[in-house]
Amino acid sequence: MIENHFIELIRQENVEIMTDVEMKNHTSFRIGGKADAMCEVKDIHSLRAVILLCKVHHVPYFILGMGSNLLVSDKGIDGLVVKLGGAFCEIALTEENTLRAGAGCSLAKLCVFAKNMSLGGLEFAWGIPGSVGGAVYMNAGAYDGEMKQVVAAVDYMDSKGNVKRAHREDLDLSYRHSLFTDTDNIILSATFLLAPKSQGDIQERMTELMERRKAKQPINHPSAGSVFKRPEGAYAAALIEDCGLKGFSLGGAQVSPKHAGFIVNDNGASAQDVLDLIAHIQEVVREKKDIDLCCEVRFVGRK
Ligand SMILES: Cc1cc2nc3c(=O)[nH]c(=O)nc-3n(C[C@H](O)[C@H](O)[C@H](O)COP(=O)(O)OP(=O)(O)OC[C@H]3O[C@@H](n4cnc5c(N)ncnc54)[C@H](O)[C@@H]3O)c2cc1C
Repeated sequence: MIENHFIELIRQENVEIMTDVEMKNHTSFRIGGKADAMCEVKDIHSLRAVILLCKVHHVPYFILGMGSNLLVSDKGIDGLVVKLGGAFCEIALTEENTLRAGAGCSLAKLCVFAKNMSLGGLEFAWGIPGSVGGAVYMNAGAYDGEMKQVVAAVDYMDSKGNVKRAHREDLDLSYRHSLFTDTDNIILSATFLLAPKSQGDIQERMTELMERRKAKQPINHPSAGSVFKRPEGAYAAALIEDCGLKGFSLGGAQVSPKHAGFIVNDNGASAQDVLDLIAHIQEVVREKKDIDLCCEVRFVGRK
């Protein structure tokens, strides 16, 4: 529960805030109960004011990107969900071959901007849903590319409202992991070091990778992408398929018949349906293959 007084204080900062927000409308899984409140901040000043108010009033906060890697609890989220809008969605060419993108900007917009500037390196990210902040947080990657290869620095805000900069070597980027994983730090923007490339060549690679995605992934069904991380020396999807679980469903959640690494919300699935299906897959794969599958999708909200 959030007190009305807190809501008023946020509004006094000229920040739009809504209460009892259905998270299923803010996740690619189309799953999730109500968050106590959600606000959208448009600049660093408002973000700092909101974070400091949360601290003083003991309100937990959660930074939402585009909700494409999340499974939100049916019981919703305690406290305030914060989205980055306004100035956080801007992109600029800052130096030769260098772009800075706000954390709220979509990866898709960034890829198109880079292409229009004839800068290559981000083609792998074309088709990965989500925001720049979410991509850095997750070290998102595909088709032999990952954020680690192109991010030169990240500006972030710590839980006290201080703005700091971390350079590539300090970002601790590894498979679906970054310096920001499980911390309160908020990614504000990322600087990308790219390389000159013709727009035609960039477009060709982007189109090729999108075609591969469309052929292999259930992109027209609600999901959060690959549910499990790639285990050492194996592919989660192949293991799940080998165990005969492709197409298997529990409640409204189904192992995608197109790609066994994805769980799709095919029939009004609850978060519990997905959790039960994940637990079942993990149990079967452990039994039959002696391999532990770890989740890539992040579970958020009330237990
Ligand atoms: C169809 C489909 C295909 C996908 N394909 C891929 C793929 O090929 N490769 C891949 O890596 N992923 C893939 N994903 C997963 C997902 O798109 C990525 O993980 C993406 O980077 C998540 O970004 P987001 O903005 O949606 O983050 P969210 O899902 O909103 O959040 C993810 C985490 O990042 C944190 N976060 C977000 N923004 C910030 C910020 N500004 N500061 C601090 N923390 C922040 C959140 O708190 C949360 O913990 C796919 C998902 C779908 C639905």
